[in-house]
Amino acid sequence: MYRTNTCGELRIQDIDKIVTLSGWVQKSRDLGGMTFIDLRDRYGITQLVFNMESNQELCEKARKLGREFVIQVEGIVRERSSKNPNRATGDIEIEVTSLKELNKSKVPPFTIEDDTDGGDDLRMKYRYLDIRRSPLQNNLIFRSKLALETRKYLDIQGFIEIETPFLIKSTPEGARDFVVPSRLNAGQFYALPQSPQTFKQILMVGGMDKYFQIVKCFRDEDLRADRQPEFTQIDCEMSYVHIDDILNTFEGLTKHLFQHTLGVTLPDFPRMSYDDAMKKYGSDKPDLRFGMEFVEMNDFAKGHGFGVFDGAELVVGICAKGVSESYSNSTMKELTEWMQRPQIGAKGLVYVKYNTDGTIKSTIGKFYNDETLNEWKEKFGAENGDCLFILSGETEKTRKQLNELRLEIAKRESLMKNGDFKPLWVIDFPLLEWDEDSKRFHAMHHPFTSPKIADIPNMLSGDHETMKNLRADAYDLVINGSEIGGGSIRIHDRALQAKNFELLGFSKEEAENQFGFLMGAFEYGAPPHGGIAFGFDRLCAVMNNQSSIRDYIAFPKNNQGRDMMIDAPSLIHEEQLDELNLKLDLKKND
Ligand code: ASP
Repeated sequence: MYRTNTCGELRIQDIDKIVTLSGWVQKSRDLGGMTFIDLRDRYGITQLVFNMESNQELCEKARKLGREFVIQVEGIVRERSSKNPNRATGDIEIEVTSLKELNKSKVPPFTIEDDTDGGDDLRMKYRYLDIRRSPLQNNLIFRSKLALETRKYLDIQGFIEIETPFLIKSTPEGARDFVVPSRLNAGQFYALPQSPQTFKQILMVGGMDKYFQIVKCFRDEDLRADRQPEFTQIDCEMSYVHIDDILNTFEGLTKHLFQHTLGVTLPDFPRMSYDDAMKKYGSDKPDLRFGMEFVEMNDFAKGHGFGVFDGAELVVGICAKGVSESYSNSTMKELTEWMQRPQIGAKGLVYVKYNTDGTIKSTIGKFYNDETLNEWKEKFGAENGDCLFILSGETEKTRKQLNELRLEIAKRESLMKNGDFKPLWVIDFPLLEWDEDSKRFHAMHHPFTSPKIADIPNMLSGDHETMKNLRADAYDLVINGSEIGGGSIRIHDRALQAKNFELLGFSKEEAENQFGFLMGAFEYGAPPHGGIAFGFDRLCAVMNNQSSIRDYIAFPKNNQGRDMMIDAPSLIHEEQLDELNLKLDLKKND
């Protein structure tokens, strides 16, 4: 038997028991007559003690053990004279009577402690060592628990877990597909699913009524810190539902998950239209942990001779609480330059400081007297000590810029409090988005999303401008400024689906070729249906106040999309290329 107990298990009640433990050497300390070793496994750390006086040979053997050696010890549980209250096993230690080295270890390239000195790529190359650290273990344990609770909840709600294929035909969801060459069908390719979207809709036509799957999805996108080329979704679809049915079910799921993994009781989720979110926060995923709601100023800021505002489509501002004195001239300069970086592209930044002594300092004092600025103060609900930041320009751009500033100030002022969870449903997204570069409409969610019933006549007969204003039965769940999930009520009628493809620039043949199977299925009694998918990795991270999903994925890819441990992607043998009929094509391209 390798062990009678784990390294996280023994307590004061176990004193005098003879036990066997196995684990890794976390650390050893040599204090002349005594040697102490911290023995670690997934469950915790237990202190071992070797006594030079009572067993010299054993003690010397212990002193030779290096970090991360794997050992097995037998010994007696003793009460510690100096207890460690920070450790669950801190009241006891094991007086070792026999020691067996099960395996040696090279010196690890980074410390296997809660705070490690390893850089990202090194930690990914030696992921097995990183996974030995308890923060990562806790993340993976959390993830496992979250998946389990998801299954429990959805099972009780009557959902059936169904697997859908990974080798499919491409489903356009806005990203590039990863493709897999088919050996048996020369020159043809499968695509890895960006999501099981069409399959879950087909399952509704198949009468499964409520489907879910915790499933890998693949998107060949340019990578950002919180994106991975393969990621996991909680993917769901339901039949005979309206928006409310879906929002209620998945609000229920979210509440269940927070309650049963974190012990956090979430209040009912507010709902906000996409238009309102853009107007009030300049973002379709506003962080509601703090205020700084936008105040539109066209009505009262124009007409005072300040050309910049007078000529702008939108003048809009936010009020930052309590910063009028702490934001010095140099901070203001720094913020202005930050806003002027090409990534944000603001032309300038106007501010109005309401100092605690009642004086007002602003960059636009020439055009607006104190009386006017005091009126603004009221409109913003500002107090002495606060500062208004104002931007102007083209509506959409200006809103987005002010969103960046709002988030930056929240960061500087530590307003994004950990453990404060502010969920929000954003609803009524536009159906289509006009892309000026390609001069085409794109589906804001995906091509299977239904317009609102009231907008269908406009969709069938409207002109170009009308198309821009069509609303969809589409929704996102946002928590603390992160998009956790999104979905929609789907089109279930062949003619309407065909019309949508047409608006999106598909020719009849292209639509038939790519989605004939779905439109065909719609001709055999497709029920009204809709669904949603949650980003599972993202949900794990957000619930734990983390910004990167990487540490919730056992084997993530780095920023270049590489798996540093197995060194993938990699070249393949010529014979393999031959078999896949790829070599010929490559030559053709030369
Ligand atoms: N397939 C969609 C996505 O991955 C989710 C959905 O519409 O259910 O975003």
